[in-house]
Amino acid sequence: MDILEYPHPTLRHKTKSLRRVDADLRVTVTEMFRLMYDAAGIGLAANQVDLPYRVFVINLGSERGQDEEMVFINPVISRPKAPVEEEEEGCLSLPGVFAPVRRPSTIHLTAFNLAGEEIRSEFQGLLARVIQHEIDHLDGVMFIDRLSDTAEMAVRDELADFQRRFEQRRESGKIPADEKIRTRLELIEKTYC
Ligand code: ZN
Repeated sequence: MDILEYPHPTLRHKTKSLRRVDADLRVTVTEMFRLMYDAAGIGLAANQVDLPYRVFVINLGSERGQDEEMVFINPVISRPKAPVEEEEEGCLSLPGVFAPVRRPSTIHLTAFNLAGEEIRSEFQGLLARVIQHEIDHLDGVMFIDRLSDTAEMAVRDELADFQRRFEQRRESGKIPADEKIRTRLELIEKTYC
């Protein structure tokens, strides 16, 4: 398992709900936390590691044991509340790229944790922001889709570099063709969603 970089097509895949919480998912989640800590990130969504279902992990401490490990399965967001706040965001699928993003400061979320228990809670501040960023991922949306024209212009060259690198990797056979990627995701969906 690796963290995919922009513009890998799985990052644009709209993920599906999981049918159940099982041992396979626990293994996946453990691996997701490991990758996230290795990259010093605070959140990671399943389609960032080439999986098509609705799971993301968060640890605001970005280090194992530093803060609470949170797992969100089949999350549904509701009741975003004003004020909308603008803060700098980054993404493990776009290492080194940072830009300001406007998001509601408070959200209400329902989801399941790894024990299969329902989470039903209101979140604020950084945690609300990270949750919204990760749910965007699960819907195939990236933070660069939410930039102002000015912010978009400031990161345009960096995004073009990622695009070039992706095309090179694809030409060298390190990244499969779109159809092969889609077939693999559909196969996983049949088993788990
Ligand atoms: Zn991200």
